[in-house]
Parts: sequence; structure tokens; C-alpha cells
Amino acid sequence: MTERKPGFSTLAVHAGSVPDAATGARATPIYQTTSFVFEDVDQAAALFGLQAFGNIYTRITNPTTAVLEGRIASLEGGTAALAVASGHAAQLGVFHTIMQPGDEFIASTKLYGGSINQFNQSFKSFGWNVKWADPDDIASFEKALSPKTKAIFVESIANPGGIITDMEPLAEIAKKAGIPLIVDNTLATPYLCRPFEHGADIVVHSLTKFMGGHGNSMGGAIVDGGTFDWSASDKFPLVSQPRPEYQGIIIHETFGNFGFAIACRVLGLRDLGAALSPFNAFQILTGIETLPLRMEKHCANALEVASFLDNHPAVEWVCYAGLKSDPGYKLHQKYAPKGAGAVFTFGVKGGYDAGVELVGRAELLSHVANIGDTRSLIIHPASTTHRQLSDEQRVSAGAGPEVVRLSIGIEDAEDIIGDLEQGLAAS
Ligand SMILES: *Cc1c(COP(=O)(O)O)cnc(C)c1O
Repeated sequence: MTERKPGFSTLAVHAGSVPDAATGARATPIYQTTSFVFEDVDQAAALFGLQAFGNIYTRITNPTTAVLEGRIASLEGGTAALAVASGHAAQLGVFHTIMQPGDEFIASTKLYGGSINQFNQSFKSFGWNVKWADPDDIASFEKALSPKTKAIFVESIANPGGIITDMEPLAEIAKKAGIPLIVDNTLATPYLCRPFEHGADIVVHSLTKFMGGHGNSMGGAIVDGGTFDWSASDKFPLVSQPRPEYQGIIIHETFGNFGFAIACRVLGLRDLGAALSPFNAFQILTGIETLPLRMEKHCANALEVASFLDNHPAVEWVCYAGLKSDPGYKLHQKYAPKGAGAVFTFGVKGGYDAGVELVGRAELLSHVANIGDTRSLIIHPASTTHRQLSDEQRVSAGAGPEVVRLSIGIEDAEDIIGDLEQGLAAS
């Protein structure tokens, strides 16, 4: 055997999986079981005491889900991953491990609308206070820092405009402040961008989108980069202080560079309960096997569609970092050179009403509140996904009245363009 390190496409098919020990099954079986029989009472006690690794109950670990976790950790280049019920559950799990009531974190204004809501509404009710900063003004993150700040949160490629975040200077700011940089890598996937190579400490995913890729299963993931020193300060007591319910062990000291992932599992999943179903883990795992092929096609199609729109008289502007004329083109070349993703926005002439009408006329493109499906999707954010925000929040999130968001699928580009052409011709 050669010593060659497997490439990304090989890992997408194989990482984390071996033929099933019991049956030889080549595809990963769906272990659709809630619980696992202990070998004996000593093993049961060791599992509950975190002195041995093994399965107890599917809320905390499951063999099908474990293969998915191993694969995601490998593709991102992290030390460990944790799969959960949704992208929002992943964000909840991360912040639950990091934040105490009264703490603050800084988040980019350019985020998925659901994340803006989660941070502004439910997180505030837990006493976790978000401070917003503008990714076009890196200094605004530094200005938002306070002694209570526990993390910086951004999206690598930001929903809805497909804007690419300049992560490296943000990683520097986080490092200086002794806090982790958390990157939501949902729109990029590790095929296009690997945030750990740019200074991120934690990556989160909505597996619901491009990772699963077929619009059929919800899921989320937390990936531990293994880079952050949780014990360097007293800011992160869940990871750096003794845990009374586990014989006083200190999770970071005991589990080292995958301690954060362990804490998210044995404290977060244990108590918050947002476990992934093994069936969904199987679906997402199957989806990931074709991630490189799908992302190539998604990105090639997106570039063709964006170029078409850029030259259309009924279109005011197009925001797609893959276009050479786009202000984000340089960041695309730096952080995601294989493709600028497949989610982007454009402005239709005629504002709010014209946006709503175009969506209504789409035939091939499905009008849904989702992205990262094999199918091409269209939505008018101001009247839907970003409806619950104020006008000002909408504009700063890139979801003003004239904005239409596309998630370009893997159909033939001519058919996607044809559908947009008939819709725009009528306006
Ligand atoms: C969809 C999405 C989420 C939330 O994920 P769910 O799986 O819907 O909970 C978070 N971040 C981004 C960028 C998303 O697109």
C-alpha cells in the first residue's frame, strides 16, 4: 500500500465507514434502534462515567450517525464532529457549550434569516446577547468586543447574497481576544471552502442543504477544529472546569483537542436532546458521497445563470462572487476558488411587486424556503424568509424589497435560464 493521503472525493465516499462488522454490509446500515445492550454492569458504569467510548442511547450516540460524524470531520479537516437534528440545533449546541447568561457574542449581519431570528429572539431569552457587526467593515468586529464576548460567528459564504466572508482577519481578532471563531459552512460545504485552513476554530453546518443535497432530510453538524485552547482562560467553564456529574473530570483536559465536540455531545445533546434520526444520517451520508460531483455542477450552472441575469435588461444588479465584475470576486479566488457556490441574489427592476411576480411565474424553479437541493429554487426573501426582520435589518442582510434569491440546482443550465427568461419577459 502507498502512503498517499486520500483525496477529497475518495473521503466523501469512504471516510468514517468500514464494512459492517456483524454482517459485512458494504453500505452503512441504518441502526434504527434507540438503545444498545451493555456487555455487563461494569461496562455500563464505564460508559455512563465517560471512562469508555460506546453506545448507550441514540440521543447521544448511534453507529449510523457515527459514520456520518467521522466523514464530516474528515472532509472539514477537524478533530471530531457531532451530528444533530438540524442546522439550528447545531448552533444551539455550540452556544450552549460556550455561553453563560449575560455573555455576548458577535455575529455578522450577513447571515441566514433564521439565524438572525434565533440569535435575536430565543438566544436573547437565554441571556446570550448578540452584537451585530458588518463583514464589509472588519474593524466593526473589533469595536464590538467586550470582556463578556465569547465568540465571533460568521458564514463562509453568506446567505442570501452568496457573499464571501474575509475570515482570516476575523480569525486574528478572535485569537487576540482569546475567543473562538465559529464559521457556518453550509453554503460552501468543505468541497468549496475549508474554514479551519483560514483560522476558524469551530465549523457548523445545516446538513439539510448541500451536504445532504437532495432536499429530503433535515440535519446539522458541529465540527471541532481542535485548535482552540479552552483552558487558557476561565471564559469557558463547561469545558475547562470539573464536571460534578462525571466524577469531577475536566472535559478539555481529559479529551484534549476534541474536548469541545465531547462537551457538545455529553452536555449539549444529553440535555438539549436535538438528536439526529439514524435514517436521516443514512440519507445525508448517501448524499455526501456525490458532494464533489454535485458542487461542480451546482457552481457551473450558477455561473451560467448569473451571467445570463447580469446581461438581462429587466435585472438591476446581480450579486454573485463568481462574476469577474463582482466586488467579492477576489475573496472567492482566495477562499473558494473551485466555485462561488450556488446561492445568490439579484435585483429585479420594479422592486417588491416585480420580485413577488417573478417568483409567481416560475415553472421549473420551485418556490420554496430552502436551498441546496438538486432542484433549482427561487424565493423573494423580503416577503418570506426575511419577513420577520425590520426594513433596516433586511437591507443589511442583503434582502431588500427588490431582491430575489436563487439556489441553482443540477438540471441543465439552459432549462433554468429558459424558465427565468420567460418569467422576466413578462415583467
Ligand atoms: C438553513 C440554514 C441554517 C439552519 O439550518 P436548519 O437545518 O434549517 O436548521 C443555518 N445556516 C444556514 C446558512 C442555512 O442555510
